[in-house]
Amino acid sequence: MSRAGAVLEAEDITAGYGDLPAVRAVSLAISPGEVVALFGANGAGKSTTMLALAGVLPCMQGRRLWQGSPTTSSLSRLAREGLLLVPEGRSVIAGLSVWDNLRIGRGNPDKALGIFPELQTLLARSAGLLSGGEQQMLVLARALAGNPKALLVDELSLGLAPLAVERLFAALRSAAVDDGVAVLLVEQQARRALAVADRWYLLSGGEIIDSGDKTAAADALEVAYLASMTGGPNGHTGTAAFAPSHDTSTSDTGLAEQSNHNADSSAVAT
Ligand code: ATP
Repeated sequence: MSRAGAVLEAEDITAGYGDLPAVRAVSLAISPGEVVALFGANGAGKSTTMLALAGVLPCMQGRRLWQGSPTTSSLSRLAREGLLLVPEGRSVIAGLSVWDNLRIGRGNPDKALGIFPELQTLLARSAGLLSGGEQQMLVLARALAGNPKALLVDELSLGLAPLAVERLFAALRSAAVDDGVAVLLVEQQARRALAVADRWYLLSGGEIIDSGDKTAAADALEVAYLASMTGGPNGHTGTAAFAPSHDTSTSDTGLAEQSNHNADSSAVAT
């Protein structure tokens, strides 16, 4: 059943690659002014869900609703109406300056700099020379300056130092609270994301197995998350997802040093 006031919604969506579904019967919704987190272990289906919601992957079954109406429109079309995707990876154009990266976005660069004033002193620098945290600031600044109605963000925190993650998440929170953006945040660092999320869904094996809101104790999510790991994919533990959120082992600037020079901006709606 559709959620009243939702700007973007998945109703029983099954989606995947080729003929093989990777997520089944997923229903979720995001509404203006809220941050919703989508959790799950590696391979649980978080990115697939986000890509299907965005219209990058087709729905095998079920349907998407955009501003209350069913849609089959692509991301590039819905981007004009305010649906923006920040995909996994650093979606900057490495060879362009920070300023030019901002100029090619949908929004006003000055608005982007208002959201992240930290970028002001970096405007002439090639985006590829920024730290990982600075690159993600640039990506998020460009997206938020485009005045999105709904913003889908995939693993923004990957490889970043804790202070950088907090800064990015705080900007997402402000976008929701101050500007009424509906934010869907795919995240493995559950505790950090819970600090800014109003509600959450938990995916396991391609299905939503639990959901809750911030009034539910984080412990409830932790129990469900850990249970979903049992027999789950290798290389990921629930305890990592619940690492303390106040770890300050970071660089002086609080920004991760990892850079990605191969980032592709094409998947970001600009
Ligand atoms: P992670 O946190 O590791 O990014 P995820 O929860 O985002 O994982 P997905 O990337 O959505 O999970 O993957 C869900 C399933 O779909 C996995 O079994 C994965 O191997 C498979 N998959 C993902 N991308 C493709 C692809 N391009 N072609 C085929 N299978 C894919």
